[in-house]
Amino acid sequence: MVGRLAPSPTGALHLGNARTFLLAWLSVRSRGGTLLLRVEDIDGPRTKVGAAMQTLDDLRWLGLDWDGEPVVQSARLDRYRAAAVRLLEMGLAYPCVCTRSEIETAASAPHEGVDDGPVYPGTCRGRFADLAAARKETDRDAALRFRVDGGAVPFVDRFVGSQPGRIDGDFVVQKRDGGPAYQLAVVVDDAAQGVTEVLRADDLLASTPRQLLLYTALGLTPPLFAHVPLLVGADGRRLAKRHGDTSLRHLRERGVRPERLVGYLAFLCGLRARGEECLPADLLGDFELSRVPTQALRADDHELI
Ligand code: GLU
Repeated sequence: MVGRLAPSPTGALHLGNARTFLLAWLSVRSRGGTLLLRVEDIDGPRTKVGAAMQTLDDLRWLGLDWDGEPVVQSARLDRYRAAAVRLLEMGLAYPCVCTRSEIETAASAPHEGVDDGPVYPGTCRGRFADLAAARKETDRDAALRFRVDGGAVPFVDRFVGSQPGRIDGDFVVQKRDGGPAYQLAVVVDDAAQGVTEVLRADDLLASTPRQLLLYTALGLTPPLFAHVPLLVGADGRRLAKRHGDTSLRHLRERGVRPERLVGYLAFLCGLRARGEECLPADLLGDFELSRVPTQALRADDHELI
């Protein structure tokens, strides 16, 4: 089996990321699999210079390791471009010049999709022969959108079980600036790297049916997915700045040792008693993903410092 850690270097790694990477590491290492590391740095301005180095350093400090050299998405743009062109040529994707505000206005019965933003009403479907025609006719750069016919791709998740796999509307696979959308890049890479298990936080559960469509469209074999509950603050809301600084950098500066942090994450995940200290390798012997609670995990970093 082959798993991966796929950090986005958009800021310092925080408690929630550390928890997800710890579980991904345990899931693979406890079964003797291969674990790859991929830096997902294609998110333009949100990606911070130097953050990738900090992320790798934080992971090593936690006691996590990986096999081989890290793969960096910004060095693989040609592959994503080629996949997007294939989808276009097969008639499965089409050029779209709509701006976000146009989509909001055009969505006749505006309702929120499964994640952020309104559902795309299909305005540009069948409108342009190719990207050049879209540019010529509108004087705008076009994105490429994947055509969704049928609204669901049911699948079975290794952690949360059967999912209806609802998909709301055609979604972007290549942005206006020619860069890949996350949905496409992650599929191209997981397939190219031979990944067989993707363990990630359940904020990406709604992305999975879209990714499954892309696997089928590109003739690729999908991995098994396991979506673990997000870490939330003591108030039950998604861990964010309002909960104080839960970055590993900050915790390290405050003198928190990895044994303490990993022990705390293991406690939150139902793997160890409160207050026990340990390193990731100490958790391998009796690790079972099924021991992790299925409801959102509440964290309070005051317990750490
Ligand atoms: N890079 C993504 C993130 O940090 C994870 C993508 C994935 O696991 O599919 O949120």
